[in-house]
Amino acid sequence: MSQIIDGKEVAQRLKNEIKIEIEDIKLKFNRAPGLAVIQVGNVAASSVYVKAKTKAAKEVGINIFDYHLEDTIEQSELLDLINQLNNHVEVDGILVQLPLPKSFNEQKILDSITPEKDADGFHPINVGKLSISQKNDENLLIPCTPFGCLLLLRELNISLVGKNAVVIGRSNIVGKPMAQLLIKESCTVTIVHSKTVGIEDICKRADILVAAIGKPEYVNKHWVKDGAIVIDVGINRIQINEEKSKLVGDVLFQEVKEKVMAISPVPGGVGPMTIACLLRNTTISCKNRLVN
Ligand code: NAP
Repeated sequence: MSQIIDGKEVAQRLKNEIKIEIEDIKLKFNRAPGLAVIQVGNVAASSVYVKAKTKAAKEVGINIFDYHLEDTIEQSELLDLINQLNNHVEVDGILVQLPLPKSFNEQKILDSITPEKDADGFHPINVGKLSISQKNDENLLIPCTPFGCLLLLRELNISLVGKNAVVIGRSNIVGKPMAQLLIKESCTVTIVHSKTVGIEDICKRADILVAAIGKPEYVNKHWVKDGAIVIDVGINRIQINEEKSKLVGDVLFQEVKEKVMAISPVPGGVGPMTIACLLRNTTISCKNRLVN
């Protein structure tokens, strides 16, 4: 029987810990951590994510500074807002919900967030720190989704040392930082992507397989070794019939689950961890700013 890794439950435990930490911060410093959430335009999926992040932040006691901007604004106006938030005493984390409208230079916007308030961990300074540091350090601002995946792997209580890990996808927000985190756990890491030759054979050798592709149910049982651990990052909405749709991952869950030692489901796997890790980053930023 394979283990279905319950991301909801793990995320709830992490949120409970963060809530206690925030109560402690409030007692010591007389204020709560603050998170500025910026959404530009009205992409439906972004609105869903922003709502979920905002709700979770409020539940643990983080103050939300909410900015929902029209997609007609100029890039310079967004840069001005970020500059103000960089200097706002009670804002500890700044999150710009991606994707931004096509006319924006996304990297320029992310680079304009001061690294100390980089709630997503996407700033080049934080990316560099993650790459240089020897351990998955308590005080690093680490991209939320891959760090959430690592926490799910740690839940299994098995040694990751020396394991063959394969990450499918090389994006800056998931694939690359996931590989960095696994290297620091002393896994032997391979990244594969759309141009990889013989991808199925490489994946089949993985003890740990992380799928971050963005293609519904793409990874089937022929890609997966017996007894592997599979973390499914994908979130894809597929149409069941004219009226109904559902969320699925990048892994064909029903058939792959029969072969593996453990697998994270979609929904209810990585998604809740991403949100919990955002709250973690905001709390770390707050502590770093208040103490230093
Ligand atoms: P992305 O930027 O589009 O990157 C996708 C990666 O998959 C790319 O590196 C691409 O290769 C690779 N790829 C595409 N087709 C492939 C194929 N046929 N074979 C092998 N590799 C292939 O996506 P992302 O932002 O990393 O997100 C990946 C998925 O995770 C999406 O479904 C997204 O919705 C989901 N996601 C979930 C969470 C969460 O909280 N659960 C958070 C973030 C993202 P190339 O580089 O060669 O193009």
